[in-house]
Amino acid sequence: MKIGTRRTLRLVTAGTLLALMAACGTTYSVPKADPTFSSQASAMFAEEQNQATQRAGNRLSASAAASQFNRVARRVEPVAEEFCRKLTADREGFNCDIQILVDTEMPNRNAFQTYDRAGNPLVTFTLPMIADARNEHELAFVMGHEVGHHLAQHIKKKEQQAAVGAIIAGSLMAYAAAYDTSTPQHLKQQDINNAVMLGAAAGGHVYSQTYELESDVLGTYIAMWAGYDPVKGSLFFARPENPKEANGQLSFWGTHPPDEKRIATVLATVAEIEKKKGQ
Ligand SMILES: [Zn+2]
Repeated sequence: MKIGTRRTLRLVTAGTLLALMAACGTTYSVPKADPTFSSQASAMFAEEQNQATQRAGNRLSASAAASQFNRVARRVEPVAEEFCRKLTADREGFNCDIQILVDTEMPNRNAFQTYDRAGNPLVTFTLPMIADARNEHELAFVMGHEVGHHLAQHIKKKEQQAAVGAIIAGSLMAYAAAYDTSTPQHLKQQDINNAVMLGAAAGGHVYSQTYELESDVLGTYIAMWAGYDPVKGSLFFARPENPKEANGQLSFWGTHPPDEKRIATVLATVAEIEKKKGQ
């Protein structure tokens, strides 16, 4: 099997990446906007948004798609774990036992990061998602991106923000209730509880653009280290897809809104890696 860019990308060794990580302080600092990358990203984005590009993309048979996925997962998983261990070497007990799994039930194209009951990080792909990938780079980049959410602890940070939000909402209600003598006490308490619930639910599953871009940077490192082309891979996120599924839930493109900034970030991160590699 031949992948055009693999030969050159393989030159990025663990040592180079470690040096890069040390050089930039926080590993997943998002590169600053650069007009060269922005205009390149904008052209690539426009091409992906074109329906003709989407129709021209290759789709494999179900069995070929499954073996393509297994191949990529076998390569990306150990690389992601090693990357995780190096990145978090100074954080005792950080769980780098990452598992890439397939959900055989979910009918929608989706990929997401969660934890099992024991707190182990999981990255799950649905079957329609696996079938829809046009190449290995897309699968590798999405895998790397989802692992990135774990490395940057986005779920935890989001839960903390939601908890703070819930407390604030609850406090506001309590404050309002305390000064409202016309409402019976038990109803006031119910309102406070509802406000807390609302605040928590508002946390949802959509990450901020900052978190998304952080994951893109980490995903770029992981995909590249595993020998894939993260730029090609990131085009999966640029498709002109409906942000909602038929059942009204957010689709993968609803939780990952397509935009040019994502591609520009990946381009800039690749350039950063290439530049350091040449030094
Ligand atoms: Zn994401």
